[in-house]
Amino acid sequence: MTEHETDGHTTDTTDSMDEPEEDEHEEQKEAGDDDEQTVRPSDIDIHESIGNDTLDDLDVELENGGGSSTESTGVDLDEVVLEETKDDSKGLFDDLLSGEPIFENKEVLRPSYTPHELPHRTDQINQMATILVSALRGETPSNILIYGKTGTGKTASAKFVSQELESTSQKYDVPCEVEYINCEVTDTQYRVLAQLANKFIEKNHALIDDRLDSLRDLRSTAADDSERLSDTRFDTVDDVDERIADLETDREEMETVPMTGWPTDRVYSTFFEAVDYNERVVVIMLDEIDKLVEKSGDDTLYNLSRMNSELDNSRISIMGISNDLKFTDFLDPRVKSSLGEEEIVFPPYDANQLRDILQHRADIAFKGDALTDDVIPLCAAFAAQEHGDARRALDLLRTAGELAERSQADTVEEAHVRQAQDKIELDRVVEVVRTLPTQSKIVLFSIILLEKNGVHNINTGEVFNIYKRLCEEIDADILTQRRVTDLISELDMLGIVNAVVVSKGRYGRTKEISLSVPIDETEAVLLSDSRLGNIEDAQPFVQARFDN
Ligand code: ADP
Ligand code: MG
Repeated sequence: MTEHETDGHTTDTTDSMDEPEEDEHEEQKEAGDDDEQTVRPSDIDIHESIGNDTLDDLDVELENGGGSSTESTGVDLDEVVLEETKDDSKGLFDDLLSGEPIFENKEVLRPSYTPHELPHRTDQINQMATILVSALRGETPSNILIYGKTGTGKTASAKFVSQELESTSQKYDVPCEVEYINCEVTDTQYRVLAQLANKFIEKNHALIDDRLDSLRDLRSTAADDSERLSDTRFDTVDDVDERIADLETDREEMETVPMTGWPTDRVYSTFFEAVDYNERVVVIMLDEIDKLVEKSGDDTLYNLSRMNSELDNSRISIMGISNDLKFTDFLDPRVKSSLGEEEIVFPPYDANQLRDILQHRADIAFKGDALTDDVIPLCAAFAAQEHGDARRALDLLRTAGELAERSQADTVEEAHVRQAQDKIELDRVVEVVRTLPTQSKIVLFSIILLEKNGVHNINTGEVFNIYKRLCEEIDADILTQRRVTDLISELDMLGIVNAVVVSKGRYGRTKEISLSVPIDETEAVLLSDSRLGNIEDAQPFVQARFDN
C-alpha cells in the first residue's frame, strides 16, 4: 500500500480492504468527513482528499508539471481538490504543450531528411566522385553499380553526390545533369522511360524558351539596325525569323508522354530524341534497381546501356543502386557487364559507427539535455543487430523520443528505447500479417486458435483440421495439406511462426509449430480482414474438437 494510507486518512473503502487491521478502525471513524469539507492546500495530502477516480486524473496532472519547475505546473490544487471552480481556459492541448519539449527539430530524424554530413561513408562517396568527375569534363563516366543492405546509406550518399555534381556543373557552366529515379515507385520500363522523357522535354522547353527570348530581342533590334547581326551567325533578319520558326516547331513537336497508353518503343524514341536534343552528359540514378528487374525484367537496363552508341549529342551513364547483393544473377550477361563497370560496396555499419551517425543527428534533433547517456548507445546496439541498419537506428531514436514526449517525461531514457524497439517490431509484424494472402491468414488463424485453446507443440495435421473447418465456415477454397505445409513454412520464414522439425522415432518426422508474435495483436489484425472477420464464432468448434 502507498504511504498516504498508513496514517489513516483514506476514505476509499475498496482500498481499505487491503489495509492492516489496526488502520481500519481509524478509517471508519473518518469516513465521509472530507466530502464537502473545505481544506487549505497547505494542510492536505492530495491523495487522501479525493476518491480513486479523481486520483488518476490528478496523477497525470502532477506528472505534467513535475520535474523542472514547480511554480509553473499549471495545476491549481485548490481547484482540483475542491472541484468547485472550473478552469475553462484549459483546452485539450494545454497539458500536452505545457511539458518541456524533447525535440528541437524532429524532421532531422525522418527518412526524408538528407543529411549534409555522412560519417563513415567518405570512401564510398569519394569513389563515386572519382568516377563521376568525368561528366564535368564532358566525358562519359563508367556505369556504376552500388550494393548494400537497407539502411547502409546508399540513397543518402547518392543524393549527396548528385547534389554536389549538379552544383559544380552549374558553377563551371558545363552541361551535366543527374536524374534520380526510385524504381520501387517507378517500377516498369514504360514508367522509367516516360519519367525520363518528360524530365528532358521539360528541360528542353526551358532551353528553347531562353533561346527564343534572346532571338526575339535580337530580331527587334536588328530590324532597326542590321549592323547588329554582324557578329552573329545570322546574315539577315529573315535568317533570324527562320531560326525562330524552327525552334517554335521543335517546341511544339516535343510531346510529353502520357502515363500509360503508348507503345514502349515510342516512349523510348521520345526519350532518346529529348535527351539528344542538346549536348550534355546525363547520369541516371536508378535506386532500388533490383525492384525494377524483379518486377519487369532487364529490358530497361538493356535499352539504356546501349544508347550511347546511337546518341549524337549527349552521353548517358547509369548508376544502379541495389539492396539485393545477388540481383545481377538475373541479368542478361551483356547488361551485367555493362552495368557493373564499376562496383561500390556499402558494408553494414557497426555499433560504433551507428553511434556517430546518431550523435550527429541527435545534436540537431533534440533539445540540449533531452537524451540520457545510454540512449544513443542502446539504439546503436539494437540497430547493429538488425544488420547495421542506420534507418532502424534513427527510427528507434525518433520513436523513443516520441514515447518520452507522450509520457511527458523530461528526458529520453533507456526504457523508452526498449519500448520503441517493441513498438517498431510490433508495427512490422502487424504490417506483414495485414498484407498476407487470405489463405495464409486462415492458416495463421488456425494456429492462433489452437494456441488459445492451450494446444502446445502443434503439428501440421492439427493445423490442417482447423484450417479446413475455417475454410468451410467462410466459404474459401480448401488447399491440400501439402500446400498448407508450404504456407506454414512461409510464415516461418517471415518470422511469424516457429516451425521445427522433430523426429518421432519410427513414426517418422513432424513439424512442431508455435506462434512467434504477440497473439492478441495478431488475432486482431486477422479479424480486421473482412473475410476473416466473419469467423469470430470459431471458438466452439475448436473447443469441441479437443473435447472429443
Ligand atoms: P539505403 O539507401 O542504403 O537503404 P539510406 O541512405 O536511405 O539507406 O539511409 C537510411 C537512413 O540512415 C537515412 O535517413 C539516412 O539519412 C541515414 N544515414 C545512413 N547512413 C548515414 C551516414 N553515414 N550518416 C548520416 N546518416 C546516415
Ligand atoms: Mg535506399
